[in-house]
Amino acid sequence: MKTYELSMKQAMDKLAAKEISAEELVSGLLCRISEKEPQLRALNFVCDKQSIEEAKNADKRRAKGEQKSAFDGIPAIIKDNICTEDIPTTCSSKMLEDFVPPYNAHVIERFKSLGIITLAKSNLDEFAMGSSTENSAFRTSANPWDLQRVPGGSSGGSAAAVSAGFAPLALGSDTGGSIRQPASYCGVVGLKPTYGAVSRYGLVAFASSLDQIGPFSRTIEDAALSLNALCGYDRRDSTSINMKYPDFSHGLKDGVKGLKIGVPKEYFAEGLGQDAKAALISAMKKYQELGAVVEETTLPTFDYALSAYYIISSAEATSNLSRYDGVKYGHRAKNYDGIVDMYIQSRNEGFGAEVKRRMMLGNYVLSSGYYDAYYLKALKVRTLIKRDFDSLFEKYDCILSPTAPTPAFVAGAKSDPLQMYMTDIYTVPVNIAGLTAVSMPFGLSHEGLPIGVQLIAKPLGEPVMLRTAYALEQAIEPIGAPAFKGGKQS
Ligand code: GLN
Repeated sequence: MKTYELSMKQAMDKLAAKEISAEELVSGLLCRISEKEPQLRALNFVCDKQSIEEAKNADKRRAKGEQKSAFDGIPAIIKDNICTEDIPTTCSSKMLEDFVPPYNAHVIERFKSLGIITLAKSNLDEFAMGSSTENSAFRTSANPWDLQRVPGGSSGGSAAAVSAGFAPLALGSDTGGSIRQPASYCGVVGLKPTYGAVSRYGLVAFASSLDQIGPFSRTIEDAALSLNALCGYDRRDSTSINMKYPDFSHGLKDGVKGLKIGVPKEYFAEGLGQDAKAALISAMKKYQELGAVVEETTLPTFDYALSAYYIISSAEATSNLSRYDGVKYGHRAKNYDGIVDMYIQSRNEGFGAEVKRRMMLGNYVLSSGYYDAYYLKALKVRTLIKRDFDSLFEKYDCILSPTAPTPAFVAGAKSDPLQMYMTDIYTVPVNIAGLTAVSMPFGLSHEGLPIGVQLIAKPLGEPVMLRTAYALEQAIEPIGAPAFKGGKQS
């Protein structure tokens, strides 16, 4: 088995058994990156020297029996909106093109304390706004299953990287689906933790009441293990949940006999593509065969979730992104006439079209006269959606849903922003209600592209969700590795 084919658990076992060194692992992955990255354009920055250095140190520790944890020497790829000390963090925006943070995000501190190595920073839609990486100011990443197609977004670089074997683990951020949708497009596992389970300290804010960091992996077991590395209280994030988190890898193999899974009928409405519909139906059957009780149910507020999401997220983004004024940090225009013009020119040059669209939408829904009609209404809808889910979770352990309406689309195919927004229709309700959800690969479309299914659980319901996902993963044929087919993409 090649180093780039190893799951994180396999790599951890091999490191523990001294069948492979961290240096071999990291250099094997760097080789894979140099071979495939020109086609994928998944990465903004590769920490080549530093990661080899850190791998050597991990090997020294392990030789002395002083490894920091079972993860010591595992390489991970980090979405480029998560702050990494002395390593550029650009958010794929011209605004932060030259930004090198003087500190690490909480999740990076945790990774360091466990010995997890930052291998590279991955491409995203600018400030995590988008569903394809086409909004990146630097490059559109390609999908390793078909290079003409997008990897999804906004964490498309991380999803493509794990799918292509650049690393067994990557981090993304999920505000409305940006981990789960690209995971489904690239045929990997993507998990959005419960809001508050992973600290947002050092995650460049998009919409603070929705943002959450989470892992991409090749297996459910790896997703569970990486939650052990990620979840934990942090006083620097006022929404961080202060509790003792369980070992998420325990109970994975307990099966689904007797568990109750609900499938809201609203998911079958117009818009759900044939392949995603077939996958959903076949996942329902599989769960029945495995002994779970699967029932059709209803989520009446489902239709309002997407509109509420774009109002709330844009309003919060407007406030969060007001800090980029060319003074404190960020791009500053060269030519301007007075301070107000300096702000205007700097922001005009630094932000791309989608970010500007969200700023305009956000300011509009927050402005006096429209606040009540849009923003306040959206917050009320948010409460109703939360209540709908609360009552579903009185009856069901998990909700099963499609992750996205279709498999990955061809770059450039969704030039209308509304069409692009529709790709998140099944993922945004989870963020609105602060729930946890995971997307896992479930077969291929008629064109041979990965399809994902999504499992949703109540806040802090990760253990039952992971157990349910694991049972399905073990019951189906793996989809295999991507083919890297397809021609040049602009
Ligand atoms: N695609 C959604 C958006 O553009 C979700 C983004 C995200 O989860 N970061 O807002």
